[in-house]
Amino acid sequence: MQIFPQSWGRLIWRCAISSALTLVSVPFSAQSQAQVAFDQRAEFSLTVPAMVARRVSHSSWYVEGLGALGSSANQNFISNAGFVVTPTGVVVIDALGSPTLAERLVSEIRKVTPLPVTHVIVTHYHADHIYGLQSFKANGARIIGHRAALAYINSDTAMIRLQASRQTLAPWIDAKTQLISADEWIDAPQELVVGGVRFLLHPVGPSHTPEDLVVYLPHEKVLFAGDLVFRGRVPYVGQADSGHWIKALQTLLAFETDIIVPGHGPLSSQARQDMELTRDYLLYLREVMGQAAKNMEPFEAAYQATNWSKFEALPLFGVANRMNAYNTYLLMERQTP
Ligand SMILES: [Zn+2]
Repeated sequence: MQIFPQSWGRLIWRCAISSALTLVSVPFSAQSQAQVAFDQRAEFSLTVPAMVARRVSHSSWYVEGLGALGSSANQNFISNAGFVVTPTGVVVIDALGSPTLAERLVSEIRKVTPLPVTHVIVTHYHADHIYGLQSFKANGARIIGHRAALAYINSDTAMIRLQASRQTLAPWIDAKTQLISADEWIDAPQELVVGGVRFLLHPVGPSHTPEDLVVYLPHEKVLFAGDLVFRGRVPYVGQADSGHWIKALQTLLAFETDIIVPGHGPLSSQARQDMELTRDYLLYLREVMGQAAKNMEPFEAAYQATNWSKFEALPLFGVANRMNAYNTYLLMERQTP
């Protein structure tokens, strides 16, 4: 983690100081709460992670989020975003986890090109990939997503999640942060051409989510894989149907890919190996939890008895594996005849 550039730090300090100055006439308890908020913001200004656009190929770049859970301290910068510079405009893949991060991404794009962001393609509608969308939308970008996300956007789950994020990710997610619908929903493979550059948009959901969409840049053999491929960390399985996910990975393995830009973690120049690691982890979860469900063995006993040595050295194993195993256990219970 690195210290954030000074100008940003100054801005945060200014916000923090101006809110501290308004404390004079408020009761002591409110004052001490505000003091805590002041201390937190001051602390965040020293800890927010740096964002640096790294080159992926001739025309594509990406920024890499932290291998961590989203928090106020990290601005929810826990996922990656990519961008491709064409002769007429910039195509962004994923919008990051807060409007502030989206603005920081645009600052990184500005270091490479003055061209406008014309399109944002959303790989899936998880909070850490979409809370920055409103910033791109406000600047005229066309947003493209998989039609299956519509159900999520209109769900209570999405609204409850956003409301919770307004607390847990404050001040970066606040009352002004909104869920943004796509301008174009697709549900079949589609080619997008911008400035003569071809992008293949390939729906592969339901797998990690119902609305998974990958973006393949054929002329540079770059695959923006969203959360279907995790490199060097345990994936977050959530409510995903891992059986479909494994099938989607088989589809991706058929692309001629030199470089994968995953939704999290460093990019991969060992595309096949990394897709296989994610696939093997999911296969293993299904095998061991499937066996436990079939034998009606309680989850806890099955979890403790499982040999995790192949995966336990991976980052986020400690926070994600147990939940992944539990979700898989429930899934396999439902799927066991
Ligand atoms: Zn993600």
